[in-house]
Amino acid sequence: MKRRNFLKTAAISGAAAAAAASSFPAPAIAKGRMQWRMVTTWPKNFPGLGTGPNLLAELIGRMSDGRLTVKVFGGGEIVPAFESMDAVGSGTVEMGHGSPYYWKGKVPGTQFLASVPFGMNAQELNAWYQYGDGQKLADEAYAQMNSKFFPSGNTGTQMGGWFNKEIKSLEDYKGLKMRIPGLGGEVVKAAGGNVVNVPGAEIPPALQSGAIDATEWVGPYNDLAFGLYKAAKYYYFPGWHEPGTLLDNFINLDKWNSLPKDLQAIVETANKAVNQMVLSEFTGRSTAALKTLVEKHGVELRSFPSEVLAGLNVLADEVIAGIAAGDPLSKKILDNYMVFMQNATAWTRASELPYLAARELKKG
Ligand code: CA
Repeated sequence: MKRRNFLKTAAISGAAAAAAASSFPAPAIAKGRMQWRMVTTWPKNFPGLGTGPNLLAELIGRMSDGRLTVKVFGGGEIVPAFESMDAVGSGTVEMGHGSPYYWKGKVPGTQFLASVPFGMNAQELNAWYQYGDGQKLADEAYAQMNSKFFPSGNTGTQMGGWFNKEIKSLEDYKGLKMRIPGLGGEVVKAAGGNVVNVPGAEIPPALQSGAIDATEWVGPYNDLAFGLYKAAKYYYFPGWHEPGTLLDNFINLDKWNSLPKDLQAIVETANKAVNQMVLSEFTGRSTAALKTLVEKHGVELRSFPSEVLAGLNVLADEVIAGIAAGDPLSKKILDNYMVFMQNATAWTRASELPYLAARELKKG
């Protein structure tokens, strides 16, 4: 329809336009219109994680009235999931979607950009990105991979995970075979746990057979879909290891720099919308899924004892500072994050924290 309109406009705008269109037909039709490809680390349409990039593509197309359209590819469709950053950095494709900690093998500092054990929740983290130095520091890290960074979704606070052994004291982590990746896994290791890496699809059978005692995944929404309740006795909270995991949209830096300013604003604004929408989706759908898990499947919810959380928190401080110490950019990012969190905590202690406690005083 748009193409036909353009041709019609060209035809009636005189001989000069018609001559130009016939001399350079493809560029004339394509003028001002771009088609980009977005590779993702997620299975196509994966709940929450894979649907976020779909929404991003849709918004960019609609907001630009089709001047920039983005086609989304699931992990493995163009490149394997974890080669998404290489594909974007090298310009094979224009953009990608994943989570910052996937790129720690390339730029170690990125592992502090997604979620830090006992770190900031989604609301505080978004404040760091938008009103602190988060965006600037992330851009510095991503420039090393020839890409531009945008926050593009957040899972919110995750669940602690599915356990077949009860956690009553920090001692119970000794020898515990748990699938828990990233910085959280390093903390569990420091507590004496035996951290094992199990690919997603193999987690339910590994739990069932006793090959692992426990696993974390995401939260009720994804965990219900994955059927983890069939393989474990206890569902522990909170997800101290991932208090609000950020997802990223990364764009080839040369493509980004050559994008017209108005389209840059559209991409930036679409990401801000998606960042909020994904968090809302996780909150909304986990609300429904938790009810299903408890009421339909009889899942037993457990809270980690305070003493366990306090012990893990102390270990986390040591472990994380140790990891960051080996790399100047990691240290710069983590130091900045921690100063922001300290200030944010003072405000949270006077706002969200006492408010939520107050709401709990009257049950039901
Ligand atoms: Ca997780």
